[in-house]
Amino acid sequence: MQPLSLLARRPLLSAIPAASRITTISRHFSQTSLAMAPISKETDFLVIGGGSGGLGAARAASAKFGTKAMVIEGKRLGGTCVNVGCVPKKVTFNAAAIAETIHQSKSYGFNVQETAPFDWSTFKKKRDAYILRLNGIYERNLANDKVEYVHGWAKILSKNQVEVTLDDGTKTVVNAKKILIAVGGNPTVPPPIPGSELGTNSDGFFDIETLPKKVALVGAGYIAVEFAGMFNALGVETHLFIRHNTFLRHFDPIIQEGVTKEYERLGVKLHKQSAATKVEKDEAGKLTIHYKEGDGEGVVSGVDHLIWAVGRTPATADLGLESAGVQVNEKGYIVADDYQNTNVENIYALGDVTGRVELTPVAIAAGRRLAARLFGPEQFSTLKLDYNGIPSVVFAHPEVGSIGLTEPEAVEKYGRENLKIYKTNFTAMYYAMMEPDQKGPTAYKLICAGPEEKVVGLHILGLGSGEMLQGFGVAVKMGATKADFDSCVAIHPTSAEELVTLK
Ligand SMILES: Cc1cc2nc3c(=O)[nH]c(=O)nc-3n(C[C@H](O)[C@H](O)[C@H](O)COP(=O)(O)OP(=O)(O)OC[C@H]3O[C@@H](n4cnc5c(N)ncnc54)[C@H](O)[C@@H]3O)c2cc1C
Repeated sequence: MQPLSLLARRPLLSAIPAASRITTISRHFSQTSLAMAPISKETDFLVIGGGSGGLGAARAASAKFGTKAMVIEGKRLGGTCVNVGCVPKKVTFNAAAIAETIHQSKSYGFNVQETAPFDWSTFKKKRDAYILRLNGIYERNLANDKVEYVHGWAKILSKNQVEVTLDDGTKTVVNAKKILIAVGGNPTVPPPIPGSELGTNSDGFFDIETLPKKVALVGAGYIAVEFAGMFNALGVETHLFIRHNTFLRHFDPIIQEGVTKEYERLGVKLHKQSAATKVEKDEAGKLTIHYKEGDGEGVVSGVDHLIWAVGRTPATADLGLESAGVQVNEKGYIVADDYQNTNVENIYALGDVTGRVELTPVAIAAGRRLAARLFGPEQFSTLKLDYNGIPSVVFAHPEVGSIGLTEPEAVEKYGRENLKIYKTNFTAMYYAMMEPDQKGPTAYKLICAGPEEKVVGLHILGLGSGEMLQGFGVAVKMGATKADFDSCVAIHPTSAEELVTLK
């Protein structure tokens, strides 16, 4: 019998600065009965991974449908999003946005002088403390919802058995009627060039303690683009290495081209058609990056941090998938159908580990629907997540938002002759008071299909796009047509009004 939950909190406690330990420990004692409970040997729903999807599923199963549920988490509750993803990223983005506003404020008549550089160290401490508070809230939520939380690493033994390695190294086998795999992913290991290990990855971004002077990032996905934009806005010399001529290559061309151009204008040092070939570290600890760029070669030296953001890899190593015969695809993602069923009865998978739309709300939505389908009343027996028409935002500079098909995808699906594309680009009124070289872009595109001009793609770039997209996402998801958009009276003066007045 293991006093498991007590052990469960150890890694958290050791990571907590002394000043904040008091609250955590008192919380711990306030839950003594739960804390001392031994790990159950039987459960109805065993969830591997206490991230977005796992927590969504376990809490819904237990709180809504009274299922005996258990969550096994090896690191920190909340998973990637809370600890090394969306949340600390957005907080950092907010800091970068404030930096931009401070610089722009002069144009509006303010006399703001920065007497010291951005205090990254203090900011990081506050950000870490916020995340720690969230970890605690997630833990309390599990307790409130009567989900058993076990801190440890899970390994599947069979379709009904999971071995849990606890923090003290002891192993316990739990029998489960149903098992959910929601283990997410990890940053992809960088290419095997000499010195690649001198760089860090997106997890390491959140460990940076002081404001760097110079950074280099490799990658063209949203993580690289977001980090590069933030560093640059905070006054850090930022080099971004991309393999092609644009980044965000899964997005509509209006976004790829618009943001790439804007980054160049903002001063991000973009190395197009490039590949790092060697990394070295000097005595002062600074990095030198050798790279190929087009037909030539180059060197960037004096780099404080190199961040590889070259993709994510499903976290299935050592999970025991083979013991239960769970099928993975050629990229290592677990194969799950629209209902999150794997090929093994009683084993389900969702979230990033399945490689479909890798976003937090997607994992949560899939988890809640799965819980309802498995444990809810008959009316939910066919419930599943619709993976079409999921809005997504990149917190770039400027923000971008996208839902539905890109123009090339729409052309492939409907044929060019059946599409009508509405586009606009303009200068948002926010920039009216600024010098020409301070004005950022705004560009919108609506892709409409068929005689009824159903909106099948909406792509926006500009200030406020993140908040704006959610509402338009509802309309697109409901099947709105161009006429529906036009029938909504504009809100003036906004940028968004352009979307309901497109000609
Ligand atoms: C830098 C960055 C920024 C991001 N920004 C956004 C954003 O702005 N918006 C957005 O929607 N999404 C964002 N994401 C993506 C988002 O974080 C993921 O889509 C989401 O976290 C996936 O949830 P999940 O439940 O599938 O996995 P995760 O949240 O990764 O949770 C999986 C959990 O399983 C645990 N685990 C793994 N193996 C085991 C095991 N064997 N035993 C026990 N526990 C195990 C892990 O420790 C982890 O905590 C971002 C990701 C990154 C990296």
